[in-house]
Amino acid sequence: MTISDTAVASQTGHFIDLEERFGAHNYHPLEVVLTRGAGPWVYDVDGKRYLDCLSAYSAVNQGHCHPRILAAMVEQAQRLTLTSRAFYNDQLGLFYQDLCEFSGYPMALPMNSGAEAVETAVKAARKWGYTVKGVPADKAEIIVCAGNFHGRTTTIVSFSTEPQYREGFGPLTPGFVVVPYGDVAALEAAITSNTVAFLFEPIQGEGGVNVPPPGYLTAAAELCRRYDVLLMADEIQTGLGRTGRRFACDYEDVRPDVMILGKALSGGFYPVSAVLSDPEVLGVFKPGDHGSTFGGNPLGAAVARAALAVLREEGLIENAAVQGAYFREQLMAMRSRHVREVRGKGLLIGVDLHPEAGGARRFCNALAGQGILAKDTHGTVIRLAPPLVVTRDDLDWALARIASALV
Ligand SMILES: *Cc1c(COP(=O)(O)O)cnc(C)c1O
Repeated sequence: MTISDTAVASQTGHFIDLEERFGAHNYHPLEVVLTRGAGPWVYDVDGKRYLDCLSAYSAVNQGHCHPRILAAMVEQAQRLTLTSRAFYNDQLGLFYQDLCEFSGYPMALPMNSGAEAVETAVKAARKWGYTVKGVPADKAEIIVCAGNFHGRTTTIVSFSTEPQYREGFGPLTPGFVVVPYGDVAALEAAITSNTVAFLFEPIQGEGGVNVPPPGYLTAAAELCRRYDVLLMADEIQTGLGRTGRRFACDYEDVRPDVMILGKALSGGFYPVSAVLSDPEVLGVFKPGDHGSTFGGNPLGAAVARAALAVLREEGLIENAAVQGAYFREQLMAMRSRHVREVRGKGLLIGVDLHPEAGGARRFCNALAGQGILAKDTHGTVIRLAPPLVVTRDDLDWALARIASALV
Protein backbone atom coordinates (compact mmCIF):
# COMPACT_ATOMS: atom_id res chain seq x y z
CA MET A 1 0.00 0.00 0.00
CA THR A 2 1.17 3.50 -0.78
CA ILE A 3 0.77 6.25 1.78
CA SER A 4 -2.19 7.77 -0.04
CA ASP A 5 -3.94 4.35 -0.20
CA THR A 6 -3.57 4.08 3.56
CA ALA A 7 -5.03 7.54 4.08
CA VAL A 8 -7.96 6.71 1.81
CA ALA A 9 -8.60 3.35 3.47
CA SER A 10 -8.65 4.97 6.87
CA GLN A 11 -11.12 7.57 5.62
CA THR A 12 -13.58 4.85 4.63
CA GLY A 13 -12.95 3.18 7.94
CA HIS A 14 -13.44 6.46 9.75
CA PHE A 15 -16.98 7.01 8.43
CA ILE A 16 -17.95 3.39 9.00
CA ASP A 17 -16.57 3.59 12.52
CA LEU A 18 -18.62 6.73 13.27
CA GLU A 19 -21.82 5.06 12.11
CA GLU A 20 -21.08 1.92 14.05
CA ARG A 21 -20.08 3.80 17.18
CA PHE A 22 -22.93 6.30 17.46
CA GLY A 23 -25.74 4.77 15.42
CA ALA A 24 -28.23 2.09 16.38
CA HIS A 25 -27.35 -1.11 14.55
CA ASN A 26 -30.61 -1.71 12.76
CA TYR A 27 -28.87 -2.10 9.38
CA HIS A 28 -25.93 -4.13 8.11
CA PRO A 29 -24.62 -2.08 5.14
CA LEU A 30 -22.08 -3.19 2.58
CA GLU A 31 -18.74 -1.56 3.41
CA VAL A 32 -18.95 1.24 0.90
CA VAL A 33 -19.07 4.91 1.96
CA LEU A 34 -20.83 7.01 -0.68
CA THR A 35 -20.37 10.71 -1.05
CA ARG A 36 -21.74 11.75 -4.45
CA GLY A 37 -24.15 10.60 -7.13
CA ALA A 38 -25.17 11.54 -10.67
CA GLY A 39 -27.66 9.63 -12.82
CA PRO A 40 -27.23 5.90 -12.27
CA TRP A 41 -23.74 6.33 -10.82
CA VAL A 42 -22.53 6.90 -7.27
CA TYR A 43 -19.02 7.58 -5.98
CA ASP A 44 -17.40 6.56 -2.72
CA VAL A 45 -15.07 8.64 -0.55
CA ASP A 46 -12.10 7.05 -2.35
CA GLY A 47 -13.43 8.36 -5.66
CA LYS A 48 -14.40 4.88 -6.86
CA ARG A 49 -17.42 4.79 -9.16
CA TYR A 50 -20.28 2.31 -8.87
CA LEU A 51 -23.38 1.59 -10.93
CA ASP A 52 -26.21 1.82 -8.42
CA CYS A 53 -28.32 -1.29 -8.92
CA LEU A 54 -30.46 -0.71 -5.84
CA SER A 55 -31.65 2.87 -6.46
CA ALA A 56 -32.40 3.25 -2.74
CA TYR A 57 -35.01 0.50 -3.06
CA SER A 58 -36.47 2.28 -6.12
CA ALA A 59 -36.65 5.74 -4.56
CA VAL A 60 -34.19 7.17 -7.09
CA ASN A 61 -35.85 5.95 -10.28
CA GLN A 62 -35.06 9.34 -11.84
CA GLY A 63 -31.33 8.90 -11.12
CA HIS A 64 -29.23 10.56 -8.44
CA CYS A 65 -29.43 14.32 -8.00
CA HIS A 66 -31.55 14.84 -11.10
CA PRO A 67 -30.87 18.48 -12.07
CA ARG A 68 -34.49 19.33 -12.75
CA ILE A 69 -35.73 17.99 -9.40
CA LEU A 70 -32.77 19.65 -7.69
CA ALA A 71 -33.68 23.01 -9.25
CA ALA A 72 -37.30 22.67 -8.12
CA MET A 73 -36.16 21.80 -4.62
CA VAL A 74 -33.72 24.70 -4.32
CA GLU A 75 -36.20 27.17 -5.77
CA GLN A 76 -38.97 26.10 -3.41
CA ALA A 77 -36.65 25.84 -0.40
CA GLN A 78 -35.81 29.52 -0.85
CA ARG A 79 -39.46 30.53 -0.80
CA LEU A 80 -41.43 28.33 1.61
CA THR A 81 -40.82 24.86 3.04
CA LEU A 82 -43.44 24.07 5.64
CA THR A 83 -46.78 25.55 6.54
CA SER A 84 -48.48 22.54 8.14
CA ARG A 85 -51.94 21.72 6.90
CA ALA A 86 -53.38 24.27 9.29
CA PHE A 87 -53.14 26.60 6.28
CA TYR A 88 -53.34 26.20 2.52
CA ASN A 89 -50.20 26.60 0.43
CA ASP A 90 -49.70 27.34 -3.25
CA GLN A 91 -47.91 24.07 -4.08
CA LEU A 92 -50.10 21.29 -2.67
CA GLY A 93 -53.05 21.89 -4.96
CA LEU A 94 -50.77 21.81 -8.00
CA PHE A 95 -49.23 18.56 -6.74
CA TYR A 96 -52.70 17.02 -6.32
CA GLN A 97 -53.59 18.08 -9.83
CA ASP A 98 -50.43 16.58 -11.36
CA LEU A 99 -50.67 13.38 -9.34
CA CYS A 100 -54.34 12.85 -10.15
CA GLU A 101 -53.71 13.51 -13.81
CA PHE A 102 -50.73 11.14 -13.87
CA SER A 103 -52.52 8.36 -12.00
CA GLY A 104 -56.09 8.69 -13.17
CA TYR A 105 -57.40 8.83 -9.60
CA PRO A 106 -59.64 11.72 -8.58
CA MET A 107 -58.42 12.15 -4.99
CA ALA A 108 -55.12 11.97 -3.10
CA LEU A 109 -53.87 12.13 0.47
CA PRO A 110 -50.21 13.08 0.94
CA MET A 111 -47.89 11.62 3.57
CA ASN A 112 -44.10 11.31 3.87
CA SER A 113 -42.78 7.79 4.25
CA GLY A 114 -44.16 4.72 2.56
CA ALA A 115 -45.13 3.16 5.86
CA GLU A 116 -47.23 6.22 6.70
CA ALA A 117 -49.07 5.89 3.41
CA VAL A 118 -49.75 2.21 4.11
CA GLU A 119 -51.02 3.14 7.58
CA THR A 120 -53.24 5.75 5.95
CA ALA A 121 -54.66 3.16 3.56
CA VAL A 122 -55.31 0.75 6.45
CA LYS A 123 -57.17 3.47 8.36
CA ALA A 124 -59.16 4.48 5.28
CA ALA A 125 -60.15 0.87 4.59
CA ARG A 126 -61.24 0.29 8.16
CA LYS A 127 -63.31 3.44 8.34
CA TRP A 128 -64.79 2.71 4.90
CA GLY A 129 -65.71 -0.74 6.22
CA TYR A 130 -67.56 0.69 9.22
CA THR A 131 -69.20 3.68 7.59
CA VAL A 132 -69.88 2.47 4.03
CA LYS A 133 -69.84 -1.33 3.99
CA GLY A 134 -71.52 -1.70 7.39
CA VAL A 135 -68.99 -3.93 9.17
CA PRO A 136 -69.70 -4.19 12.94
CA ALA A 137 -67.45 -2.00 15.13
CA ASP A 138 -63.87 -3.26 15.55
CA LYS A 139 -64.48 -6.36 13.40
CA ALA A 140 -62.82 -5.17 10.18
CA GLU A 141 -60.43 -7.64 8.58
CA ILE A 142 -57.76 -6.87 6.00
CA ILE A 143 -56.31 -9.71 3.95
CA VAL A 144 -52.58 -9.55 3.21
CA CYS A 145 -50.10 -11.86 1.49
CA ALA A 146 -47.41 -14.12 2.88
CA GLY A 147 -43.99 -12.67 2.09
CA ASN A 148 -45.32 -9.11 2.07
CA PHE A 149 -43.34 -5.98 2.83
CA HIS A 150 -45.32 -2.86 3.64
CA GLY A 151 -43.05 -1.03 6.09
CA ARG A 152 -41.94 -1.09 9.70
CA THR A 153 -44.55 0.50 11.96
CA THR A 154 -45.99 -1.55 14.79
CA THR A 155 -49.24 -2.20 12.91
CA ILE A 156 -47.52 -3.04 9.64
CA VAL A 157 -45.07 -5.52 11.20
CA SER A 158 -48.09 -7.11 12.87
CA PHE A 159 -49.05 -8.59 9.52
CA SER A 160 -45.56 -9.37 8.26
CA THR A 161 -44.73 -13.06 7.86
CA GLU A 162 -41.04 -12.42 8.50
CA PRO A 163 -40.45 -13.57 12.10
CA GLN A 164 -37.59 -11.09 12.68
CA TYR A 165 -39.82 -8.14 11.80
CA ARG A 166 -42.35 -9.13 14.50
CA GLU A 167 -40.51 -10.87 17.31
CA GLY A 168 -39.95 -8.67 20.32
CA PHE A 169 -42.35 -5.97 19.11
CA GLY A 170 -45.67 -7.25 20.46
CA PRO A 171 -48.43 -6.89 21.39
CA LEU A 172 -49.26 -6.89 17.70
CA THR A 173 -52.21 -5.22 16.01
CA PRO A 174 -55.09 -7.63 15.28
CA GLY A 175 -57.40 -7.58 12.26
CA PHE A 176 -55.16 -9.03 9.54
CA VAL A 177 -55.47 -12.36 7.74
CA VAL A 178 -52.55 -13.80 5.75
CA VAL A 179 -53.02 -15.79 2.54
CA PRO A 180 -50.39 -17.28 0.21
CA TYR A 181 -49.24 -14.85 -2.49
CA GLY A 182 -50.50 -15.52 -5.99
CA ASP A 183 -53.24 -17.90 -4.82
CA VAL A 184 -56.69 -16.74 -5.95
CA ALA A 185 -58.57 -19.64 -4.30
CA ALA A 186 -56.94 -18.90 -0.94
CA LEU A 187 -57.93 -15.26 -1.27
CA GLU A 188 -61.54 -16.12 -1.97
CA ALA A 189 -61.63 -18.59 0.92
CA ALA A 190 -60.31 -15.93 3.32
CA ILE A 191 -62.96 -13.33 2.48
CA THR A 192 -65.70 -12.93 5.11
CA SER A 193 -68.50 -10.42 5.53
CA ASN A 194 -66.06 -8.42 7.70
CA THR A 195 -63.33 -8.21 5.06
CA VAL A 196 -62.76 -4.57 4.14
CA ALA A 197 -59.64 -4.78 1.98
CA PHE A 198 -57.09 -6.94 0.24
CA LEU A 199 -53.65 -5.31 0.52
CA PHE A 200 -51.00 -6.61 -1.88
CA GLU A 201 -47.89 -5.80 -3.88
CA PRO A 202 -48.24 -6.50 -7.62
CA ILE A 203 -44.67 -7.80 -7.46
CA GLN A 204 -43.17 -8.51 -4.04
CA GLY A 205 -39.93 -6.51 -3.99
CA GLU A 206 -38.45 -7.13 -0.54
CA GLY A 207 -39.96 -10.61 -0.57
CA GLY A 208 -37.50 -11.57 -3.31
CA VAL A 209 -38.90 -10.04 -6.52
CA ASN A 210 -41.79 -12.50 -6.59
CA VAL A 211 -43.95 -12.14 -9.68
CA PRO A 212 -47.45 -13.63 -9.24
CA PRO A 213 -48.94 -15.91 -11.91
CA PRO A 214 -50.46 -14.10 -14.91
CA GLY A 215 -54.10 -13.21 -14.29
CA TYR A 216 -53.67 -12.96 -10.52
CA LEU A 217 -54.32 -9.23 -10.35
CA THR A 218 -57.35 -9.49 -12.61
CA ALA A 219 -58.80 -12.36 -10.58
CA ALA A 220 -58.13 -10.58 -7.28
CA ALA A 221 -59.80 -7.44 -8.61
CA GLU A 222 -62.81 -9.49 -9.72
CA LEU A 223 -63.13 -11.13 -6.28
CA CYS A 224 -62.85 -7.80 -4.50
CA ARG A 225 -65.56 -6.33 -6.69
CA ARG A 226 -67.84 -9.33 -6.15
CA TYR A 227 -67.49 -9.30 -2.34
CA ASP A 228 -67.39 -5.52 -1.85
CA VAL A 229 -63.77 -5.54 -0.67
CA LEU A 230 -61.29 -2.74 -1.44
CA LEU A 231 -58.41 -3.77 -3.68
CA MET A 232 -55.39 -1.91 -2.23
CA ALA A 233 -52.16 -1.99 -4.22
CA ASP A 234 -48.92 -1.09 -2.49
CA GLU A 235 -46.94 0.21 -5.47
CA ILE A 236 -44.40 2.06 -3.34
CA GLN A 237 -41.63 0.00 -4.97
CA THR A 238 -43.25 -1.22 -8.20
CA GLY A 239 -44.97 2.02 -9.21
CA LEU A 240 -43.78 5.08 -11.08
CA GLY A 241 -42.12 3.29 -13.95
CA ARG A 242 -39.98 0.75 -12.13
CA THR A 243 -41.56 -2.26 -13.87
CA GLY A 244 -41.72 -0.61 -17.31
CA ARG A 245 -45.27 0.62 -16.87
CA ARG A 246 -46.68 3.55 -14.95
CA PHE A 247 -47.91 1.08 -12.33
CA ALA A 248 -47.27 -2.67 -12.25
CA CYS A 249 -51.07 -3.13 -12.11
CA ASP A 250 -51.23 -1.60 -15.60
CA TYR A 251 -49.88 -4.90 -16.96
CA GLU A 252 -53.32 -6.40 -16.33
CA ASP A 253 -55.27 -3.17 -16.80
CA VAL A 254 -56.33 -3.43 -13.18
CA ARG A 255 -57.31 -0.23 -11.41
CA PRO A 256 -57.03 -0.83 -7.67
CA ASP A 257 -59.56 0.94 -5.45
CA VAL A 258 -56.64 2.28 -3.43
CA MET A 259 -53.17 2.99 -4.83
CA ILE A 260 -50.27 3.55 -2.43
CA LEU A 261 -47.18 5.40 -3.69
CA GLY A 262 -43.93 6.58 -2.13
CA LYS A 263 -40.21 6.27 -2.81
CA ALA A 264 -39.73 7.58 -6.39
CA LEU A 265 -42.60 10.02 -5.94
CA SER A 266 -39.88 12.46 -4.87
CA GLY A 267 -37.02 11.10 -6.96
CA GLY A 268 -35.08 10.39 -3.79
CA PHE A 269 -34.76 14.00 -2.67
CA TYR A 270 -37.23 14.13 0.13
CA PRO A 271 -39.78 11.71 1.62
CA VAL A 272 -43.11 12.07 -0.19
CA SER A 273 -45.81 9.39 -0.25
CA ALA A 274 -49.47 9.40 -1.12
CA VAL A 275 -52.65 7.37 -1.08
CA LEU A 276 -54.82 7.66 -4.18
CA SER A 277 -58.44 6.63 -4.39
CA ASP A 278 -61.99 7.76 -5.00
CA PRO A 279 -64.06 10.11 -2.84
CA GLU A 280 -66.10 7.11 -1.65
CA VAL A 281 -62.97 5.85 0.16
CA LEU A 282 -60.81 8.87 0.98
CA GLY A 283 -63.97 10.83 1.74
CA VAL A 284 -64.29 8.85 5.00
CA PHE A 285 -61.61 11.10 6.49
CA LYS A 286 -63.11 14.14 8.16
CA PRO A 287 -61.02 17.04 9.51
CA GLY A 288 -59.15 15.75 12.53
CA ASP A 289 -59.36 12.04 11.61
CA HIS A 290 -55.84 11.80 10.25
CA GLY A 291 -52.83 13.97 9.49
CA SER A 292 -49.12 14.60 9.42
CA THR A 293 -47.18 17.78 10.17
CA PHE A 294 -45.00 17.42 7.09
CA GLY A 295 -47.50 15.64 4.83
CA GLY A 296 -48.37 17.83 1.84
CA ASN A 297 -45.78 20.48 2.63
CA PRO A 298 -44.85 22.87 -0.19
CA LEU A 299 -41.26 21.68 -0.47
CA GLY A 300 -42.30 18.05 -0.86
CA ALA A 301 -45.08 19.04 -3.25
CA ALA A 302 -42.72 21.00 -5.51
CA VAL A 303 -40.14 18.19 -5.48
CA ALA A 304 -42.77 15.54 -6.27
CA ARG A 305 -44.20 17.57 -9.15
CA ALA A 306 -40.73 17.78 -10.70
CA ALA A 307 -40.13 14.07 -10.05
CA LEU A 308 -43.37 13.16 -11.88
CA ALA A 309 -42.56 15.52 -14.74
CA VAL A 310 -39.12 13.92 -15.18
CA LEU A 311 -40.61 10.41 -15.31
CA ARG A 312 -43.05 11.44 -17.97
CA GLU A 313 -41.14 13.91 -20.07
CA GLU A 314 -37.84 12.04 -20.16
CA GLY A 315 -39.41 8.76 -21.24
CA LEU A 316 -38.15 6.90 -18.17
CA ILE A 317 -41.05 4.45 -18.06
CA GLU A 318 -40.43 3.42 -21.66
CA ASN A 319 -36.70 3.21 -20.99
CA ALA A 320 -37.36 0.91 -18.01
CA ALA A 321 -39.34 -1.41 -20.29
CA VAL A 322 -36.70 -1.48 -23.03
CA GLN A 323 -33.58 -1.69 -20.85
CA GLY A 324 -35.29 -4.05 -18.43
CA ALA A 325 -36.16 -6.52 -21.18
CA TYR A 326 -32.56 -6.41 -22.41
CA PHE A 327 -31.03 -6.73 -18.94
CA ARG A 328 -33.23 -9.71 -18.01
CA GLU A 329 -32.63 -11.43 -21.31
CA GLN A 330 -28.85 -11.07 -20.92
CA LEU A 331 -28.96 -12.23 -17.30
CA MET A 332 -30.97 -15.29 -18.26
CA ALA A 333 -28.50 -16.11 -21.01
CA MET A 334 -25.67 -15.89 -18.48
CA ARG A 335 -24.96 -19.53 -17.83
CA SER A 336 -23.84 -19.46 -14.24
CA ARG A 337 -24.10 -22.63 -12.22
CA HIS A 338 -25.19 -20.49 -9.25
CA VAL A 339 -28.26 -18.95 -10.86
CA ARG A 340 -31.57 -20.73 -10.29
CA GLU A 341 -33.92 -18.19 -11.82
CA VAL A 342 -34.11 -14.61 -13.09
CA ARG A 343 -37.42 -12.92 -12.26
CA GLY A 344 -39.04 -9.52 -12.59
CA LYS A 345 -40.52 -6.94 -14.89
CA GLY A 346 -38.94 -3.83 -16.33
CA LEU A 347 -35.97 -2.82 -14.20
CA LEU A 348 -37.10 -4.67 -11.08
CA ILE A 349 -35.07 -7.84 -11.41
CA GLY A 350 -34.27 -10.63 -8.97
CA VAL A 351 -31.47 -13.11 -9.63
CA ASP A 352 -32.34 -16.11 -7.49
CA LEU A 353 -29.32 -18.23 -6.60
CA HIS A 354 -29.22 -21.93 -5.81
CA PRO A 355 -29.20 -22.62 -2.06
CA GLU A 356 -25.73 -24.23 -2.43
CA ALA A 357 -24.30 -20.94 -3.78
CA GLY A 358 -23.76 -19.79 -0.20
CA GLY A 359 -26.16 -16.83 -0.11
CA ALA A 360 -26.53 -13.68 -2.15
CA ARG A 361 -24.58 -11.40 0.17
CA ARG A 362 -21.17 -12.72 -0.79
CA PHE A 363 -22.01 -12.04 -4.43
CA CYS A 364 -23.15 -8.52 -3.53
CA ASN A 365 -19.78 -7.98 -1.87
CA ALA A 366 -18.03 -9.31 -4.97
CA LEU A 367 -20.16 -7.05 -7.18
CA ALA A 368 -19.29 -4.03 -5.03
CA GLY A 369 -15.63 -4.86 -5.59
CA GLN A 370 -16.37 -4.74 -9.35
CA GLY A 371 -18.19 -1.41 -9.11
CA ILE A 372 -21.79 -2.57 -8.93
CA LEU A 373 -23.97 -1.90 -5.90
CA ALA A 374 -26.74 -4.42 -5.35
CA LYS A 375 -28.52 -5.69 -2.30
CA ASP A 376 -29.31 -9.24 -1.36
CA THR A 377 -32.86 -9.90 -0.28
CA HIS A 378 -34.30 -13.00 1.30
CA GLY A 379 -30.94 -14.72 1.52
CA THR A 380 -30.64 -16.09 -1.98
CA VAL A 381 -31.86 -13.26 -4.21
CA ILE A 382 -29.73 -10.47 -5.70
CA ARG A 383 -32.01 -7.59 -6.58
CA LEU A 384 -30.89 -5.59 -9.63
CA ALA A 385 -32.85 -2.37 -9.97
CA PRO A 386 -30.79 0.48 -11.46
CA PRO A 387 -32.24 3.98 -11.88
CA LEU A 388 -34.54 4.19 -14.90
CA VAL A 389 -32.10 6.56 -16.65
CA VAL A 390 -29.68 3.67 -17.15
CA THR A 391 -28.47 3.14 -20.72
CA ARG A 392 -27.67 0.03 -22.71
CA ASP A 393 -23.97 0.90 -22.49
CA ASP A 394 -24.22 1.10 -18.69
CA LEU A 395 -25.91 -2.31 -18.65
CA ASP A 396 -23.33 -3.87 -20.95
CA TRP A 397 -20.64 -2.55 -18.62
CA ALA A 398 -22.47 -4.11 -15.67
CA LEU A 399 -23.24 -7.41 -17.40
CA ALA A 400 -19.57 -8.13 -18.04
CA ARG A 401 -18.84 -7.61 -14.35
CA ILE A 402 -21.87 -9.56 -13.15
CA ALA A 403 -20.80 -12.47 -15.34
CA SER A 404 -17.35 -12.53 -13.78
CA ALA A 405 -18.74 -12.21 -10.24
CA LEU A 406 -21.20 -15.05 -10.74
CA VAL A 407 -18.79 -17.65 -12.13
C1 LIG B 1 -40.16 0.56 0.93
C2 LIG B 1 -41.55 0.01 0.96
C3 LIG B 1 -42.47 0.40 1.95
C4 LIG B 1 -42.09 1.31 3.10
O1 LIG B 1 -41.67 2.55 2.71
P1 LIG B 1 -40.82 3.45 3.76
O2 LIG B 1 -40.66 4.75 3.05
O3 LIG B 1 -39.53 2.74 4.00
O4 LIG B 1 -41.65 3.55 5.00
C5 LIG B 1 -43.75 -0.09 1.86
N1 LIG B 1 -44.12 -0.93 0.88
C6 LIG B 1 -43.27 -1.34 -0.08
C7 LIG B 1 -43.74 -2.26 -1.15
C8 LIG B 1 -41.95 -0.90 -0.07
O5 LIG B 1 -41.08 -1.33 -0.99
